[in-house]
Amino acid sequence: MRNIAIKDISIFDSALGKMVEGQSVMVTGESITKVGDSSDIDSGSEDRVIDGTGKFLIPGMIDLHVHLSFTHSLMKNFEREMLRRKDAWWAYTALKNAQEYLKYGFTTLRGCGSSKHLASLKEAFNEGMFRGPRLKLALRTIGQLGNQELYGPQEWIDVSKTQGVSGVEGVIAAVRERKSEGSDHIKTTTTGGVLHGKESDVNRTLWREDELKAMVSETERLGMYVAAHAHTDQGIREASLAGVRSIEHGTMMSEETIDEMVKRNTYLVPTQSAGTFIDRADESVKKQLPPEVIKKWKFVSSKMVESHKIAFEKGVIIGLGTDAPVAGEHCHSPLELQLMIRNVGMTPAQALQAATINAAKVMRMEEQIGNIREGYSADFSIVNKNPLEDISVLSQEDTFEKVFIKGNSA
Ligand SMILES: [Zn+2]
Repeated sequence: MRNIAIKDISIFDSALGKMVEGQSVMVTGESITKVGDSSDIDSGSEDRVIDGTGKFLIPGMIDLHVHLSFTHSLMKNFEREMLRRKDAWWAYTALKNAQEYLKYGFTTLRGCGSSKHLASLKEAFNEGMFRGPRLKLALRTIGQLGNQELYGPQEWIDVSKTQGVSGVEGVIAAVRERKSEGSDHIKTTTTGGVLHGKESDVNRTLWREDELKAMVSETERLGMYVAAHAHTDQGIREASLAGVRSIEHGTMMSEETIDEMVKRNTYLVPTQSAGTFIDRADESVKKQLPPEVIKKWKFVSSKMVESHKIAFEKGVIIGLGTDAPVAGEHCHSPLELQLMIRNVGMTPAQALQAATINAAKVMRMEEQIGNIREGYSADFSIVNKNPLEDISVLSQEDTFEKVFIKGNSA
């Protein structure tokens, strides 16, 4: 197996939340085999040596909420686009989108709803057919029949119907179906959504308690966990009480709900870049959105910043997720890092923790990824500027000198 040594570099230790200077790292095959003071790491046996003087090594970052089969331009004409594309198009689109993230040091992506063909894309990446990030996918989400009205031509109604289920037995069957299709976790919605149908209300809760509990217990029984889209307080609290692992969006949480989340270790994935997008969107985009979507979006945008700030202050653990491509074409994840600092009140180190160790915890992968430690997968980036001094350097492609995934760099 090939050995690589990276010498005399500053490493971002995501558990400590700080940069440690004068370190060296050894990689054998796909794994990190040694990390320590440069003076403690003997050299001589490496096939390749990289001089890290004046540079920084950060763990491969993680975006916990992406929809890889979609593009931003498609969001504006969603129904029409869904009907005019053949199946394979979604998988090719996802391939292109996923590869973008590697340019900016995002080496793991958690899909929160996509075409089921992406299970094969994950395999293709794993087998090295294409260079791509590690994927963990929810594939088709589990929605409640009745959240969205079924509208449009029959073909679209048929597509929509496969997403919505009813009752405890329906929920259990849907979890098993998703598992058999290759899902790694389950994505559901416990409140209505902004880009959902006209009748989908962000204030409305969607599941009965028995349905939600059945979903969580069946999911856990099959070795997975549930990520729940939820905008408003009751739906967030019900999701936390039922035992979901992460709340996606979390637009409005009461202090009682936040306390419940802290107590139960329910994680929050804020997706601020998507939630506040309407405030940055230009008129041409707004013109293409239905009026009820604009209204719901403005509501979400006006509430989420304050809510996330309080949740963070009270100790909810936050993992980075963008909901791309809602707010732009794929891989604007570095913007989310900036919003964590500007809107949530994190330090740059805390934002970087949200994108590494915290996100790995959400995925139950904190002993494999999210830090630079012996035995971990060799997923990291060599960057030529210190992101703790200015996190916005991670928005520039030329900051990333080399991005490693499983010990391989391009
Ligand atoms: Zn989403």
